[in-house]
Amino acid sequence: MKPLIGISCGTFHDRAWCPPSFGHRQTYVDAILRAGGAPMLIPPVQDEATLRALYERLDGVLFAGGGDISPAHYGADPHAKLGVIDPLRDSAELPMARWAVAEGKPLLGICRGVQVLNVALGGTLYQDIPSEIPAELGHNLSYEREDWTHMAHEIRIAPGSRLARLLGAERLTINSLHHQAVREIAPGLRAVAWAPDGVIEALEGTGDSFVLGVQGHPEALQAQADPRWQAVFAAFVASCAGLRQAPARAA
Ligand code: MN
Repeated sequence: MKPLIGISCGTFHDRAWCPPSFGHRQTYVDAILRAGGAPMLIPPVQDEATLRALYERLDGVLFAGGGDISPAHYGADPHAKLGVIDPLRDSAELPMARWAVAEGKPLLGICRGVQVLNVALGGTLYQDIPSEIPAELGHNLSYEREDWTHMAHEIRIAPGSRLARLLGAERLTINSLHHQAVREIAPGLRAVAWAPDGVIEALEGTGDSFVLGVQGHPEALQAQADPRWQAVFAAFVASCAGLRQAPARAA
């Protein structure tokens, strides 16, 4: 049995007169498929018991990219440059992230996903990098170029971290399509990658279970632009398979 990987959906308002769509970009699905997982899109269910019923069937959870998290979730007032928020998604993702970390269910966060992980565990965010980090080096550059594979900046990865071991590198270039970033790191997490301007580019859990969040978009790089990222998705899916088949681990 392939491990079941939940991908938490975003809310898309394509036309004002239509109800929203729930979904995600194909690249997240493709990355999980390539790694041997069975991807399942999880809608932002608001009833907690039903959300829990969905979550319990999953072997791991992927929190993907998207809009901004409401700063109310970390006790801050909205910044003037706060972007579009997705309250349905916030209220589904934050409890799932807490459950996954507390219960040792593998968690991979991408872009907004690393921010969800941090806020869920008690951390805070920069709400708008360009106005809050004066010397920032263009963290929305790949978006502005309309190219998910545009390598916007370098990152430095902590030696010995899970991320460094999986990538086999302590420096690489990455795409960047974010205007928010981790500010105060939540208890139970540690920073393991940084951009040259100091912006945190990855967090890991301090415990044994697979808890990893990255600020870039490796799902858009893993196929061709930088196949080293396939190892990160493979390790995530293998951890999910291990949870399903414990104590036997997938090869
Ligand atoms: Mn960046």
